[in-house]
Amino acid sequence: MGLKLFNTLSRSVQEFTPLDPAGKKVGIYCCGPTVYDFAHIGNWRTFVFGDLVRRTLEFKGYAVTHVMNITDVEDKIIKRVWETKTSLREFTGKYEAAFLEDLKTLNCLLPHHTPHATEHIPEIISLIEKLVRRGIAYKAADSSVYFSIEKYRGCGCTYGQLLKLNFDEMKAGERVKSDEYAKESVADFALWKARVPEDGDVFWPSPFGEGRPGWHIECSAMSMKVLSETFDLHLGGEDLIFPHHEDEIAQSEGATGKPFVKHWLHGAHLLVEGKKMSKSLGNFFTLRDLLAKGFNGREIRYSLLTAHYRETFNFTLEGLQGARAALARIDECLGKLREIANQPLTRPADTLSPPGGERDGARGASKLISDFTAALDDDLNISAAWGAVFEWVRETNRRLAENSLSAAEATAALTAWNKIDSVLGIGAPAEPEVPAELNALLEARQTARKAKDFKRSDAIRGELKAKGWVIEDTPKGPKLKKI
Ligand SMILES: [Zn+2]
Repeated sequence: MGLKLFNTLSRSVQEFTPLDPAGKKVGIYCCGPTVYDFAHIGNWRTFVFGDLVRRTLEFKGYAVTHVMNITDVEDKIIKRVWETKTSLREFTGKYEAAFLEDLKTLNCLLPHHTPHATEHIPEIISLIEKLVRRGIAYKAADSSVYFSIEKYRGCGCTYGQLLKLNFDEMKAGERVKSDEYAKESVADFALWKARVPEDGDVFWPSPFGEGRPGWHIECSAMSMKVLSETFDLHLGGEDLIFPHHEDEIAQSEGATGKPFVKHWLHGAHLLVEGKKMSKSLGNFFTLRDLLAKGFNGREIRYSLLTAHYRETFNFTLEGLQGARAALARIDECLGKLREIANQPLTRPADTLSPPGGERDGARGASKLISDFTAALDDDLNISAAWGAVFEWVRETNRRLAENSLSAAEATAALTAWNKIDSVLGIGAPAEPEVPAELNALLEARQTARKAKDFKRSDAIRGELKAKGWVIEDTPKGPKLKKI
C-alpha cells in the first residue's frame, strides 16, 4: 500500500506520488526558524512533524532531499538587532546555533540543506525583477516593491489556493489602518522593503534601491534554487497557510508560470495545559525550559509524536511524565531482548523451544513492521503506529515471561525494532555519565591486572559494584556500566 497524506491544496487525503519519473527522489521544503529567540515547544511540534515526514519517506525507500531555511533577516530580527546594538550576524548566529543544538536534542535529522536568506540576496532580487517584468510587482512611492494580487489574479492565476479567501473583505477600505500605506491594495505584500533609519546596517543594494527582502520571497527564492521550480512537498505549521504559504505560491507561480508545489502539508497548533501558550499565563516553554525541569529530549520528542499532526495537541507536563513511563516500558523490553540476543548458546529456549516458537517470533517481528507501515501509510496515523508498538511490547513481554524466546527470535525482534525506530527516532536512553573518580578506579584496576595483582583488581571490582557500577568489556576496552 502506498503512502497517503492530506494535501492542503486539494483539502483531501491523497496518495503521495513524487514528481520524479522513476518514483524514487523526493524534495521537501520545510519553513525553518526565524532566528531571533529560542524556539518554543509549539515551533518544535512542527519541526518534529517535519522530521517524521522525512523519516517516513526514507523508511518507504525514497531518496529524500530535505531543505529547511534559516530566516536570518526579517522585521522581528531587525528590531532586536536595533535594540541590542549588535550586528545582524552576531545576533542571529547565537540563535541559529541554539536551534541546531535543540534539533539534535530532539533527535531530528539535520536537513541536507539549511539555506540562509542573507546568503541568497541575488536570487531574491532576480525573482523580484522577474515579477516586475511580468507586471505583477510594482515599486511604490515609498520605494518598496510590492506584489499586486489584482494583477496576479488578472493573469488567470489563483490567489487563495490553500485557503478560500473573501476578496471583498480584503479591499483597500482598511488602507489607512495599514502601516504599509504606500501599497495600492491592502492585500498586496512587500517583496522588497526600502531602507529606513531603524534598519541600521541591515540593508543591501538592489536595482530598486537599498533595502531588504520581505519574508515571503525568501522562501520562494531558496526553495526553488535548492530544489526546483516545481517540487514535491512543502510543509509547515498551519499558522503559515495564510499569508506566508499563499504568498509563496503567488510569487513562485507568478514568476515561473509553473505549479510551485505538488503536496502541501500543515501541522496543527499546540496548546499547553489546555490553553494557548502565552508568557503571561506561565505556560510558555522553550525546549530549554523543559530540559531545566528535568525532562530530556527523548521524552519531549515522544510526547510531541503522540498526536496526529492534523489534531490540536494538548501538551502537558503530566503528558511528559506519561512519556517517561511509556519509554521505560519499551526500554525494559528491549533490554531483555538484548540480553537474550547476546547469550545465544546459554538459553534454554534455544534447545527446548519447538521450531514453531521461532516462527511465532518471526511473525511477531514482521507483524510489527506491517502494522506500523500500514498506520503511517494512513496519513501518518501515529496513534495506530504506537498501538502496533505497544501490542508488540505486550506480546514480547508475554514470551519473555514464559522464557520461550530464542536468541534468533530476540535478534529478529531487535532488527524489526531498529527499522521502526528509524522513523520514531527515540533511540536508546542516554548512558549515565561516569564520575571521574570511578574512571580512575577502573584505570587502577587495569594497572593491577597488568601487574597480575588479581587480589587488588578483584577488590576494585567489588568496590565499583558496591557503588552501583559493573565493568563491561567492549572492543574499545573495559567500560563502566550502571547496574
Ligand atoms: Zn517559508
